[in-house]
Amino acid sequence: MSEHRPIQAASPPGNYGHLPFRFTRLDTGKILVTSEAGDFHVLDSSTFSTFARREPLGDTGILRSLEAKHLLYKASPETAVRLLATKLRTRKSFLRGGPSLHIFVVTLGCDHGCHYCQVSRRLHSSGRYDMSFETATAAVDRLFDSPSQHLTVEFQGGEPLLAFPVIRHIVELIQARNVQERRQIVFSITSTLHHLTDEVLEFMRIHDFQVSTSLDGPTDLHNANRPLPNGDAHALTVQGLQRARQVLGDESLSAITTLTRRSLERPREIVDEYVRLGFRSIFLRPLSPYGFAKKSERRLGYTVQDYLGFYKAALGYVLEINRHGYLIEEAYAKILLSSILTPFPTTYVDLRSPVGSGFGTLVYNYDGGVYASDEGRMLKEVGNNSLRLGSVTDSYQTLMRSPAMELLAASGLAETLPGCSDCAFVPYCGPDPAGSLSRHGDPVGHRAESEHCQRHMGLFKILFGHLAEGAPDTLRIFDDWVHGALSTAKAT
Ligand code: SF4
Repeated sequence: MSEHRPIQAASPPGNYGHLPFRFTRLDTGKILVTSEAGDFHVLDSSTFSTFARREPLGDTGILRSLEAKHLLYKASPETAVRLLATKLRTRKSFLRGGPSLHIFVVTLGCDHGCHYCQVSRRLHSSGRYDMSFETATAAVDRLFDSPSQHLTVEFQGGEPLLAFPVIRHIVELIQARNVQERRQIVFSITSTLHHLTDEVLEFMRIHDFQVSTSLDGPTDLHNANRPLPNGDAHALTVQGLQRARQVLGDESLSAITTLTRRSLERPREIVDEYVRLGFRSIFLRPLSPYGFAKKSERRLGYTVQDYLGFYKAALGYVLEINRHGYLIEEAYAKILLSSILTPFPTTYVDLRSPVGSGFGTLVYNYDGGVYASDEGRMLKEVGNNSLRLGSVTDSYQTLMRSPAMELLAASGLAETLPGCSDCAFVPYCGPDPAGSLSRHGDPVGHRAESEHCQRHMGLFKILFGHLAEGAPDTLRIFDDWVHGALSTAKAT
């Protein structure tokens, strides 16, 4: 819920005025109040009523704290509004640079048969679903048309290493052009690690690749989720992981889990497998409603409440492991906590407002189509072209002024959407036009029926519950995740 009133000079009875704020009741009964720029305070019900009525707060500590967090001002509002605007500009500063995440889908080919596959993979055979060198060259031109000084170039598939010559072509082209362009560029790849060779690893080492693999938990669970005809997918991934670590170092490797219905019964075993394999991060990601995953949803899917129950248990276990001295972060919590506990813009494009699709991300599909996001490409695979911006041969201006971008601009600002506009979590959240298109057929959708909304509302409530409870060891662990104690630990 929110409270919007014109900002006036502070006056009796409380001698303070309100700055724009939103609020919600947490499970404990306490009230979370958030500012326009994402500062927050948790008040008990009676103090909140006093604050909402602008009555004297009595406790000068609370008064000062609410003032420092831009929830109220004393005297004249001009300075307070200016400071608030500066904070808001910082939080939205990702808008200045244009798209910085550029995803190259170099092939749809893959030899796995994952039931929940989000990318509508094709069996790897003739190379028919590989990106051509001409398409790759044009996509690199579009990449450098983006004004962003910081570029992340991510390779995806299918299994991208099945199209390694295309990856090599793209990276070498980018490096050659960057001698003039002088952008800061990071290369990353999402791979099963089943197709690593000495040549591939050496190439990745030279170009400083960040490598992400998929690991769904212990052997039986991973192999049930990711069947590989004539092979043990889990064993091959673990072998690839060990090989990659030797050449690239621990810092360059991470893993991500996809949770099916059978995963939800085993939170501890999944976390234990990550610890056993020496990971310092685990991303407890739910199933995506796109592509093949949507088709097999009835068999593999689960409700948001089921996911949140699992997440709460798994997060509790991750915290317990940290308390016992093994530092491991839960990546989803880290992303949300970084938004909550710092004034900086989120690096996670899925939770940006204005939406990260198109404004923060461009996806170059193997066939030359340019999409606003990976989800937009997945929608196309099931026959919905709404988020196709155009072709790699179109100019950057044509792509950014396409009907798809107009649709995203009109539906991509959470602060203006029904439901989000007065949600206390909106400073940390973002809209989900692709999910709304997929579920409801329109990009705005309906919050009460939105999986994205219910999931994030649940996750915010779990995390704010921990923050409000204020257990010192939990706060210390959260602080380590957000401010990087783990990076120090990983480096030593
Ligand atoms: S999507 Fe849901 S949780 Fe996120 S801002 Fe909108 S209403 Fe709030």
